[in-house]
Amino acid sequence: MAERNFLLALHDIAPATWQDYRPFVEAIDAMGNIPMTWLVVPDFHHQSATFEDTAFQNMLEQRLARGDELVLHGFFHCDDGPAPRTPHEYFMRRIYTYEGEFYGLARDEAQRRLEQGMELFERRGWPLHGFVAPAWLMSQGTRDALSALPLSYTTDTAHIYRLPEFEAIDVPTLVWSARSRWRRGMSWVVNELARHRHRQRQAIRLGLHPVDMRHSISHKYWLETVSRLLEEGYTPRTKIGWLNHLNLESRHVA
Ligand SMILES: [Zn+2]
Repeated sequence: MAERNFLLALHDIAPATWQDYRPFVEAIDAMGNIPMTWLVVPDFHHQSATFEDTAFQNMLEQRLARGDELVLHGFFHCDDGPAPRTPHEYFMRRIYTYEGEFYGLARDEAQRRLEQGMELFERRGWPLHGFVAPAWLMSQGTRDALSALPLSYTTDTAHIYRLPEFEAIDVPTLVWSARSRWRRGMSWVVNELARHRHRQRQAIRLGLHPVDMRHSISHKYWLETVSRLLEEGYTPRTKIGWLNHLNLESRHVA
């Protein structure tokens, strides 16, 4: 069988969520050298400013030094735009999620927030390759802005898109809905079925959220899944690590 990879991504990284993640990250580190992708929010919900917290930034720099990747994940993460105007918009922005910061943004505002985030990374000297929209929701304006910026990729739940062309690569994502007990019960089954269904794929993503860390069932699921994938011979990579690896492979074929 061809080489298989898994991409472990920690969503909603900010000083406010670090206490949730910390024991999990320590457990993963104890399993060996497993590169992770950290989805960093510059100012989570307007009250947890990553770039004003020196200790937190130092921790992220240690991660970079170990080979992890830092990605820009929205700016505030929450959707505080004007009230939804249509039933579809209402569903997407109030029922599906409150976290679609980039779902309603026009191009100018999307570009402004993206550039502001990119500048914070640059000032700190952090390499930046990717942007992931909160809840994976992007307006057309966001897509237009991304096409004009020097980033390598963005993602939704089913794809990684190479920028600026939005060339789609299928990469399925395992993700939990850990907010209520019945959803947590379902998530184990749904994710195991998905992992099985996608076992021939070259790459699979694990999309983790802070709420997953607060429940033993989801916490345990992710640890077991990482160790199972390692046992099955999967290679752990960051997202940019995997994209670069794909480039190399295609050059060998050509
Ligand atoms: Zn998020």
